[in-house]
Amino acid sequence: MNSYCPSLVEYKRRKTRVVNIGGVPVGGDNPIRVQSMTTVDTMDTEGSVEQCIRMIEAGCEYIRITAPSIKEAENLQNIKDALRLRGYNVPLIADIHFTPNAAEVAARIVEKVRVNPGNYADKKKFQVIEYDDASYQAELDRIRERFVPLVRICKEHGTAMRIGTNHGSLSDRILSRYGDTPLGMVESALEFIRICEDEGFFDIVISMKASNTQVMVQAYRLLVQKLDDEGLQPYPLHLGVTEAGEAEDGRIKSAVGIGTLLEDGLGDTVRVSLTEAPEAEAPVAQALIDRYTHRAEKAQPIKPLCKNPIDPFQYHRRETVEVENLGGLNVPRVVADLSRLTDIKYADLKAVGHLYSMLLDKFNMNDLGADYIYTGDNPISFMLPNGLKEIVNYTAWQQAEQRDDRHPLMHTEEYLSSAERHGKLNFILAAIGDISPELIEALKQDRTTVLMLHTQNEHAMPELRKCFIRLMNNGIQTPCIIKRSYGDLTPDQVQLYAATDVGGLLIDGLGDGVLLSTELLPEQEKQEELQTIDTLNKLSFGILQAARTRMSKTEYISCPSCGRTLFDLQETTAMIRKRTDHLKGVKIGIMGCIVNGPGEMADADYGYVGVGKDKIALYRGQTVVKKSVPADRAVDELIELIREDSRWIEPVQLEE
Ligand code: SF4
Repeated sequence: MNSYCPSLVEYKRRKTRVVNIGGVPVGGDNPIRVQSMTTVDTMDTEGSVEQCIRMIEAGCEYIRITAPSIKEAENLQNIKDALRLRGYNVPLIADIHFTPNAAEVAARIVEKVRVNPGNYADKKKFQVIEYDDASYQAELDRIRERFVPLVRICKEHGTAMRIGTNHGSLSDRILSRYGDTPLGMVESALEFIRICEDEGFFDIVISMKASNTQVMVQAYRLLVQKLDDEGLQPYPLHLGVTEAGEAEDGRIKSAVGIGTLLEDGLGDTVRVSLTEAPEAEAPVAQALIDRYTHRAEKAQPIKPLCKNPIDPFQYHRRETVEVENLGGLNVPRVVADLSRLTDIKYADLKAVGHLYSMLLDKFNMNDLGADYIYTGDNPISFMLPNGLKEIVNYTAWQQAEQRDDRHPLMHTEEYLSSAERHGKLNFILAAIGDISPELIEALKQDRTTVLMLHTQNEHAMPELRKCFIRLMNNGIQTPCIIKRSYGDLTPDQVQLYAATDVGGLLIDGLGDGVLLSTELLPEQEKQEELQTIDTLNKLSFGILQAARTRMSKTEYISCPSCGRTLFDLQETTAMIRKRTDHLKGVKIGIMGCIVNGPGEMADADYGYVGVGKDKIALYRGQTVVKKSVPADRAVDELIELIREDSRWIEPVQLEE
């Protein structure tokens, strides 16, 4: 039934082959390793060494450095020598694209080389070519000829290799046969792995990165299944989401992709790619990994599944009936928790994206306006703005005067014994133990209910997934809101954990809404509580967007930068963001170089790509439309391009 991870209910790491990388082994029972990549020009030895040291001190166990040509590959020796001289033995990884000769030099110097099967022996021409079996085989023979020398050098020098597929840089050959799919990504790596195994070389780590978290998760799962099916070795997995972006968006997106796989015991090393200094990446990776150190001991047992109705390799949203604006084809909804506030005023709703203008005496909703507020035992005393609805505890609802405008939240027993219900929409709070045959029968008869699923289990995502599976296996199409509560954690941990738990379910098409509850957080003064509510509201929208289930803001697919980067990515991303972040649902790729940028920005609607010093190429989708725009005019020209497509809207300053 399940062939992509050891268990869907119990935390177990996938048993992988141990690969030695310069004395820091990965895979097997070794800890999940943290790694990152330098951004300094590889020819700048001193700068690279200093950056490596900052990265090591931030927690990097491996460091990757780009080697675009032979001269950079050769300079890896100087960087390595300088690091060793200063007492740092961190294994180095050379990052190779397009240049087998640089790979062959680097493999003699560093502890691991990374090759991208999409461009190791192929130059991308964006051609669709019809291959028959013979011509496809001829291509494979050509690749073998280019690739085998590197494999032999690695074998001879004890150098490990990462076969790192990128969704955005699949070869024309793979695209022509398999399309832009997880299967294409997997097959791209398998072609190279088969060659390695034929040569008796097994020191391999594999990655399946994409900027689209659904594609990324599906590709890793499919890879595991295909390796097993084909009797290939269980190679360790390097996890990463490419071009995740910066700040909270980058962290949320990384957690959704990487965390989802870690929950199922997949992953032996992690690289979080942020458009920030590389030393900012290791702590995020470590925080994601640390969550699993004691997971197996702390988790409460979950009974095994008898049948799994979820397709792990393709996105299908769970079928649900529509109850008001929940479930069916509605986007997943955001419920904000205001239950610890008493005496809520108009202005307080700003924390959930509904801004009250005194001047006009009306509310404006921004892009992150919550759909529901949960007020517990403290119903709101005024009329809510359009587009916002209220959920209150059952007793408070029974006592309220205006019952039609608010909806009750009942415990399961309250629901089963309730004489009074709302005519259109009732919420039921349920944990796995509450999903009894009696509740299932009642749900079948009632088209007004929405479940709010929650858990106290440390192994939270799999337990909530089990709730969904139980409902699906019993034919229940009631919409479900995923409720998570976190106490005693830092805000950074809450961000990563919520993104993992909720994102992991959304990726599998589960969940019609999200409620990040404040109930377990320490008591706070009202202003701080509003600040927390604001953060959790933004986080909820961020998770829905990162899991690609609800687009509420502009998406930036920015590369993490490396030695090839032609402009200051952080500064440029901030500048582009400042001018465009009110454009709902537009995806903008911001890539540091023309070599990999266009391929790696994947499904962006527009691309801003460095082509030379102070020169930018602008793309519409995969097509270059302005080849060499001076950097100081490039953002204006980008906006012009968006305007030409009628996708530009003027930013509106909301009044308070
Ligand atoms: S797109 Fe960015 S990270 Fe990728 S090679 Fe170019 S500069 Fe480096």
